[in-house]
Amino acid sequence: MTKVLKGIAASDGVAIAKAYRLVDPDLSFSKRTITDVDGEVSKMQSAMDASKAELEIIKNKAKETLGEEEAEVFEAHITILSDPEMIGAINKEISDQKVNAEQALFDVTDQYISMFEAMTDNAYMQERAGDVRDVRKRVMSHLLGVELPNPALINRPVVIVSHDLTPSDTAQLDRKFVKGFITDIGGRTSHSAIMSRTLEIPAVVGSGEATTTINEDDTVIIDGLDGVALVSPTDAEIAEYDQKEQDYLKQKDEWERLKTAETLSKDGVHHTLAANIGTPRDLQAVLDNGAEGIGLFRSEFLYMNSAELPTEDEQFEAYKSAVAKMDNKPVVVRTMDIGGDKKLPYLPLPDEMNPFMGYRAIRISLDRDDIFRTQLRALIRASSYGQLWIMFPMIATLDEFRAAKAIYDDERQKLIDAGTKVGEVKLGIMIEIPAAAVLADQFAKEVDFMSIGTNDLIGYSMAADRTNERVSYLYQPYNPSVLRLIKHVIDSAHKEGKFAAMCGEMAGDQIAVPLLLGMGLDEFSMSATSILKTRSLMSRLDSQKAAKLVERALDAQTNDEVKQLVLDAMDSLK
Ligand code: PEP
Ligand code: MG
Repeated sequence: MTKVLKGIAASDGVAIAKAYRLVDPDLSFSKRTITDVDGEVSKMQSAMDASKAELEIIKNKAKETLGEEEAEVFEAHITILSDPEMIGAINKEISDQKVNAEQALFDVTDQYISMFEAMTDNAYMQERAGDVRDVRKRVMSHLLGVELPNPALINRPVVIVSHDLTPSDTAQLDRKFVKGFITDIGGRTSHSAIMSRTLEIPAVVGSGEATTTINEDDTVIIDGLDGVALVSPTDAEIAEYDQKEQDYLKQKDEWERLKTAETLSKDGVHHTLAANIGTPRDLQAVLDNGAEGIGLFRSEFLYMNSAELPTEDEQFEAYKSAVAKMDNKPVVVRTMDIGGDKKLPYLPLPDEMNPFMGYRAIRISLDRDDIFRTQLRALIRASSYGQLWIMFPMIATLDEFRAAKAIYDDERQKLIDAGTKVGEVKLGIMIEIPAAAVLADQFAKEVDFMSIGTNDLIGYSMAADRTNERVSYLYQPYNPSVLRLIKHVIDSAHKEGKFAAMCGEMAGDQIAVPLLLGMGLDEFSMSATSILKTRSLMSRLDSQKAAKLVERALDAQTNDEVKQLVLDAMDSLK
C-alpha cells in the first residue's frame, strides 16, 4: 500500500524514481582470533585496492562537478591508503596479535586519529583525523562487504533519502541522476534546501520519517510543490503525478518567455529582480533566468569549497568573473558568513550551545581581521571590472558596521596608494537581526543600502531555528510582527534616499510578493529559478492596490489571517 509522507516543500517540481539511501550503513564487527595470517593480510590488501579504485571515481566526479580544489580531499584519502607505514602497521597487527583484518584496521587507525587529534596547536593536522576516519570507514565497508553510499557513485536515476544533507553533500549531487531528495530534518530556508532550488532538484525536507520508512530501491514520488512524498505508489498515482509534472513543466515554459522582459507591475512600476548565488558556477542559471543583478553572492561558499583559506588572488578571480559576467549589472557580495550550519574544516570553531547565535559572520571577520582584510582587498580590486557592492552579514549594532567600514576604508586607501585601480563600491548591511531592523532608521543614515535577510530575521524574531522542522510552524513570514519590521526597514531606507532590498527566501515567496510590492521594496533577490515566476506574478499585480492590502495586513493578528487576506485579494489585485 502506498505510504504518504508529509514534509516541507523545499524545491518545486515532481520526481519519480527509485530510492537511494544516503544513510551510513552498520559497520560494526567482532574481534576474532585468526590462524590464517596471510589470508587476513590479503583480504586487507583487496579492501585497500577496492577503496582506492572507488576514491579515484569519486575524485574524478568531484573534479567535474565541483572543481580541482574540491577534489583534493579525495586525493589526500588515496595518499593515506598508500602510506606504507600505516599498511605495514596494520599487517604487523594482524600477524603479531592474530586478530582479524577489521580489528587490526580499527586499532591502527585509532592510534593515528588520537595522534592527530592531540595536535591542538595545529588546526591543519587536527583536521587529518577526520580524513583517517573517512578512509577507515571506506576500507571497513569493503572488508564487511557493505556498500558505502556516496552521491558521486550514483549512475542511475534516483531519489536521495537521507536524515539530513549538508551543503557540501548537496553540492555533490549530479542533476543528471539525482531526480529528487527527501530528508528527515531541515526547514525551507536551511542551506541544503536553498541549494536544491538553485540546482532545480525537487525536494521535500523535514519529513520526520524518510529514512525509517523508505527502503533502498523503493519507488518514490517527490512532490516538491506541495511537500509530499509517496512511497511504493500505485500505477494510478504514478500517472497522476506524471501529469502534475507535465503541467509544471508547461508552466515553466510559459514563464520562460519572460526571460528578456522588463520586471514591471501591472501599473508599470519597475522593481529589480535579482538572483542569489553561492559560487561563480551558479552564474549560468542567473543569466538563463533573466536576473537583473546578483542581490546576494554568499561568498562563504568559496571558503567552504576550498581545502584551505582561499587566497586574495583566488577570491579576486571569483569576484571578477561574477562582476564581468553580469555585464555592469550590480553584484552584491556578502562578506564571509561562516558559522551556524556553514562550517570550514580548516577553521575549527569552538563548540557552542547555540552556533546560530554564536561566533559567526561579521563577528568572526572583526575578530580575525587578517581573513577579513584579505577578502576586502580581493573585493576592492574586483570592483573596477563592473558594479560591485559589498554587504556585511549579521550586523547587530552600528558599532559593528562602523568597525567593518573603517577596515574597508583602510584597505581601499592602501590599494589606491599602491596605484591599484578601484571602482565605485556601495557599502551595505544585511538586516537579519531584529535589533538592526528596529534601529533601521539610524543605520539608514550611514549605509548605502540595506538588504533584508528574512531567513534569519524571521528565525530570530520568532525564536524558531530555521533548520528545525519541529518548530517550522513558528517560521511565519506573514506574521504581522515580521511584516511590521520589514515595512519599517523599507520606509527607513527610503526616508534617507537609500536602496532597500531583500535577499531572504521570502523575496520569491508568491504570497509575500504582493505585500513586498505594496511596501515598495526596491529589489527582490531570490534563487535564480524563482525569478521568472515572480516576474510573471508581478506583471499581474497593481502596486496601488497592493499598498492598500499592506495596510490591512499590518493590522491583522496572525500569520494565517494575512495569508488568507492575500489569497482572497489575489484576484482583485490584478
Ligand atoms: C538570510 O538570512 O535571509 C540570508 C539571505 O542569509 P543566509 O540564508 O545565507 O543566512
Ligand atoms: Mg542569514
